[in-house]
Amino acid sequence: MKRIGVLTSGGDSPGMNAAVRAVVRKAIYQEVEVFGIYNGYSGLISGKIEKLELGSVGDIIHRGGTKLYTARCPEFKTIEGRKKGIAQLEKFGIEGLVVIGGDGSYMGAKKLTEMGFPCVGVPGTIDNDIPGTDFTIGFDTALNTVIDAIDKIRDTATSHERTYVVEVMGRHAGDIALWSGLAGGAESILIPEADYDMGDIVSKLKRGHDRGKKHSIIIVAEGVGSGVDIGEKIERATGLETRVSVLGYIQRGGTPTAADRVLASRLGAYAVELLLEGKGGRCVGIQSNELVNHDILEILDQKHSVDQNMYKLSQELSI
Ligand code: ADP
Repeated sequence: MKRIGVLTSGGDSPGMNAAVRAVVRKAIYQEVEVFGIYNGYSGLISGKIEKLELGSVGDIIHRGGTKLYTARCPEFKTIEGRKKGIAQLEKFGIEGLVVIGGDGSYMGAKKLTEMGFPCVGVPGTIDNDIPGTDFTIGFDTALNTVIDAIDKIRDTATSHERTYVVEVMGRHAGDIALWSGLAGGAESILIPEADYDMGDIVSKLKRGHDRGKKHSIIIVAEGVGSGVDIGEKIERATGLETRVSVLGYIQRGGTPTAADRVLASRLGAYAVELLLEGKGGRCVGIQSNELVNHDILEILDQKHSVDQNMYKLSQELSI
């Protein structure tokens, strides 16, 4: 393989730039030419493709978002769309592709591979919801953003002796809620993977209030329901002044943490190694601090699950 391409697709996440940088530098180190494809699969179809040099990825390791931009591209779900994409790759003489994104992007990569074009997926999403890897690129940064917010909210919660409900991202996966709730010392953590009992939440809040607790923090993953609705229910049931904070898109941006930059660098370079070994249809990850790769199809068939032991621990520590 003498020419490879790289694109970022789906929702952006902090650390995607560090992954792009690693792909470009590792490829050039191996004397392989690299092409950047802009705006995800959309730019692949329209041919927004440009050769990248060592300097093209300078000064981006510390930047959030993605220099290659990203997009959702419904056309790529059609065979005609993918054929157009392959025609563009052939036009540029590109023989393999690194796709940095979430499970939707993996699906596109799998289908391209099935059509004879080798792709390797790199997990870039703040949700940490991709099977076959302990961590996804961007999760640690999002977590630290949430923790920073919780710590600030805690100050005002204490000053006013209020209960705060903090709604965090996670439509299907509770990782951001669970990890930030544990790290932020939340009273209750509501995740899509577990049923919650309003009676338990209320009695815990009342117990805390009765023993003189000045504040309480409840973390709600967006997939569980609206933080505003849950806040209203809590206020009605406890009679305690309750406020709601929906963190929203601030969780997707910002300077990637060191952990995310290192993870992105390792995974990006490893993806290039696999492509150069002629291995397409794979996705890379990290498990027990070892670089691993799996069949994309197998990974897409699996379901991500939160760490149940950690969930149990969060309950034990917030009695
Ligand atoms: P993420 O990668 O963050 O999960 P999406 O689910 O939006 O984000 O997927 C990103 C893009 O991947 C889509 O806009 C589309 O171009 C491509 N994609 C998603 N699902 C498929 C599919 N079934 N077949 C081909 N391409 C797909």
